[in-house]
Amino acid sequence: MYIVIIGCGRMGSLLANRLSKQGESIVVVDKNESAFENLSAEFSGFHILGDGAEVDVLKQAKIEKADVVLATTKEDNLNLMIAQIAKEIFGVHKVLVRLFDTKREEIFSTFHIESISPTRIAVDEFLKKINLKGS
Ligand code: AMP
Repeated sequence: MYIVIIGCGRMGSLLANRLSKQGESIVVVDKNESAFENLSAEFSGFHILGDGAEVDVLKQAKIEKADVVLATTKEDNLNLMIAQIAKEIFGVHKVLVRLFDTKREEIFSTFHIESISPTRIAVDEFLKKINLKGS
């Protein structure tokens, strides 16, 4: 698969390293050069320095060819915007975003953007560890 990942920080780099190890073709975009230091020595994909919300940068990443786009910056709004550009302008079918604010999950789904909330996943894990079920 060809996968474009926006954000190469704690989350994006982990995804990039793992997916690259599995043999997927990865391009990772970050606006901070130092973020690419998070990529492992075995990472075999490409990295692009730039703002992942800019159409030209996304074109450079050949986003229109992507099977999957993952928006993993730590800003919910920015991830939403990137996801919309990927879907609406470049026609990418599978777009997933990192979303911290669980109150906004519904808004994201009205835009047909699939979100993954590290906050919700962590809360579920905390509750599991203390043997309680949340709602
Ligand atoms: P982390 O919270 O450690 O997963 O890091 C988030 C990453 O997203 C950082 O490396 C930021 O530099 C990166 N980031 C934030 N805004 C943008 C943007 N507009 N375009 C590309 N990368 C970004």
